[in-house]
Amino acid sequence: MKQNIATCFYGRDGPIMQKHTTHWRSVANRALYSVHKKGIVSVTSSYKFLNIMRSLAVLCLGFAVAFAQEGAERNTTALRDCLETAKVPFYESDAKDWEDYASPFNERLEYTPAAIAVPTTIEHIQLAVSCGSEHGVKVTPKAGGHSYASLGLGGEDGHLVIQLDHMYNVTLDTETNIATVEPGARLGHLAAELFEQGNRAISHGTCPGVGVSGHVLHGGFGMASNTHGLALDWVIGMTVILANATVVECSESQNPDLFWAMLGAGSNFGIAASYQFKTFEAPANVTWFSAQLPWNHSTAQAGLEALESYAKNTMPAELNMRLSGSSRSASVEGVYYGDGEGLEAALEPLLNKTGGSISDAETGGWMDAVEHYANAEVDVTYPYEMHETFYSKSLTLKGLNGTSASNFVDYWYGTASNVTRIWWFQIDIHGGKNSAVSKADPGLTSYAHRDKLFLIQLYDRSFGTYPELGFEFLDGWVSNTTADMAPSDWGMYINYADARMDRTTAQNVYWGVSLPRLQEIKAQVDPTELFYYPISIEPAMELAQPAKSLAPETPAETVKVKVKAKTIAELDEELKLKLEEISGEGGAAGLEYENGKAVAMKRGVKENMFSFLAAMDSLAAILSVILGSISLKEETSKLYDATNSWKPLLGTGQNFLEIMDIPFSPGEPTRLLLQATNINNDNASGNLPAQEMHTIRVYFMENIGDCRGRSLIGTTSSFAGSPAMISQWSLPSKKNLWETHSYKLSLAPTLVPENMIGNTEHPYIDSISIAAGTI
Ligand SMILES: Cc1cc2nc3c(=O)[nH]c(=O)nc-3n(C[C@H](O)[C@H](O)[C@H](O)COP(=O)(O)OP(=O)(O)OC[C@H]3O[C@@H](n4cnc5c(N)ncnc54)[C@H](O)[C@@H]3O)c2cc1C
Repeated sequence: MKQNIATCFYGRDGPIMQKHTTHWRSVANRALYSVHKKGIVSVTSSYKFLNIMRSLAVLCLGFAVAFAQEGAERNTTALRDCLETAKVPFYESDAKDWEDYASPFNERLEYTPAAIAVPTTIEHIQLAVSCGSEHGVKVTPKAGGHSYASLGLGGEDGHLVIQLDHMYNVTLDTETNIATVEPGARLGHLAAELFEQGNRAISHGTCPGVGVSGHVLHGGFGMASNTHGLALDWVIGMTVILANATVVECSESQNPDLFWAMLGAGSNFGIAASYQFKTFEAPANVTWFSAQLPWNHSTAQAGLEALESYAKNTMPAELNMRLSGSSRSASVEGVYYGDGEGLEAALEPLLNKTGGSISDAETGGWMDAVEHYANAEVDVTYPYEMHETFYSKSLTLKGLNGTSASNFVDYWYGTASNVTRIWWFQIDIHGGKNSAVSKADPGLTSYAHRDKLFLIQLYDRSFGTYPELGFEFLDGWVSNTTADMAPSDWGMYINYADARMDRTTAQNVYWGVSLPRLQEIKAQVDPTELFYYPISIEPAMELAQPAKSLAPETPAETVKVKVKAKTIAELDEELKLKLEEISGEGGAAGLEYENGKAVAMKRGVKENMFSFLAAMDSLAAILSVILGSISLKEETSKLYDATNSWKPLLGTGQNFLEIMDIPFSPGEPTRLLLQATNINNDNASGNLPAQEMHTIRVYFMENIGDCRGRSLIGTTSSFAGSPAMISQWSLPSKKNLWETHSYKLSLAPTLVPENMIGNTEHPYIDSISIAAGTI
């Protein structure tokens, strides 16, 4: 990193910029002048212009990164001082156990925390939250560490990770059969303790190392869910540490909004520090089984449709089951609460229709079935080491039949069978007439998928680095399967998180109908997003204000940690040393110091460059559009044409600038379409109205006449004729230059059959529009 910055600063363009900034600015202004005078620039000059913009963006990014790093390092040092003063146990990157705690389950996604706190009490968690909040470091709880997207590490570098697995106690009250569970217990330990202490159980997933917290707070589906519901259905109360470091209790009667939000989207609202679970009696007779299905490309669709009908109408509550598929086989496996005879009778209607027979089954007790599906030691706490490298996607579906079933099957036996990595999928029977998941009151928790029949995960594993080209395999499977579905017919499961999706799409697919209320609650309890990760829930804009206290009548005292502040002189000296370090071989040359402070990077280079950018007074000029293989001529002329015309695209009072209309042709590669770089907020130019905050929104619209209104591009839904928001960010007016934001709109051209392009009788998509603006 240091080397890159040094190269950027001292490379071919570096000294020229420093010495000739005036000349450099005037060249750039001339380019702008030509844009404004003529309205349309020639293809060559616009191309050059875009190139200048790109180089500038890269350069600015270099400096921004350097300064951001500097700030982050300062915060990290202060954070560590704070944790030390507060006596919260924590690890720094040179600690012996650092590797164990910092390495994720999914090794495809490794992130470096600022520090890892290892609390053993609720007060430690409170103090750690307070330290993170005080020093501007995002805080992320990590329980079992099994998030598919490494969200337990924050899904990015630099978080204060609160590793909870030293707090794993499970205590069952044998009078009430209510269990009190610490937040770092793992599922296997929970199952073992509940059984041991009183022959009790709750419903949960199969992997014993998965943390109770991540699992329960976002759903929790397993081999007892058809009979007993989701893991979160067994929670009756919780102790939560909020972003303001207060401790609150929540349940159906106490802070019910928080309780509702925590059960389905808990990672966004606070740190669950203790749970109260009701429990059920562990069943005495449990039969696990598997049955091979002799499916092939021509029979699998009928098989899936038979499975759908069986799951919807026939499958008894005592049966819990999933379909598994790979390049080699299809099978169903599961657990029946009863004996072998009961199992055979329960499965008969399905096997009659789909072929296949039970190949393996055994009746035992509750823990035998838990052990069978754990496929590993059950009673595990810490230390815990298990890793894989993979990419995974999920789907929650109301059904798979007709076109969607045939799309799924074609992809399975066509595209997927050519992929040589180890991949598989599982279709859990999640809903249906007799399912406890479907029958539970959908309003009690924020889990948004109770109306879905199937819970699917698609899993593609690699040994060694996951290939860049691998992603399109599962992305394509999902987009093919959902191509013909209404947006309300499908969603995704955050417990199989995929952080490659943009934030808006992710929030919609993971939290569906619950999202608006979740965003309101987020605005109340964590408006500054202390508990942030790249696909976390955004606070509702209009409500975001300092956190409302949910503390009980006798509020727990807000924890404040006092740390000896460094003097300005000490901080300046640190900064000077750091800047000298990053200046590379040229030493401190290029950095000017005034009174011992490094100012040249800020004034000499940074300001000149920034004032150049600030001089650009059109949104078109500051949106650099990377068009991949699209004809530049077509797009840039449209881009500049639109420069001065703000269009009320979405109603009066909302200014949106239509940027481009992109013809759509199948067979083109997926590409990056829009990148808004260093957005100029120079009010003097009159483009942006003066106001406290500007919200920039980017919309896209599929130009389809088809009134069925479905999503054809990626996973973002856009109904025919109405734009869908794909990205949004809010920035204060005071800033003249806003940071880089980009949105990757992935086109999956395979979705559009060649013969449908331009077909007016059955209009499909033939172009997309992107609009951006500020409100
Ligand atoms: C091998 C394997 C098998 C799995 N099997 C199943 C299955 O059968 N059924 C199923 O439904 N899922 C299953 N999952 C998915 C699993 O449920 C999720 O990945 C779950 O979120 C993991 O929880 P964790 O605590 O281990 O993960 P972590 O990575 O520690 O946490 C996951 C998320 O929860 C947040 N979080 C953690 N602790 C807290 C807390 N105390 N308060 C608030 N937020 C918190 C984290 O910040 C993060 O966002 C499986 C995953 C793996 C890797």
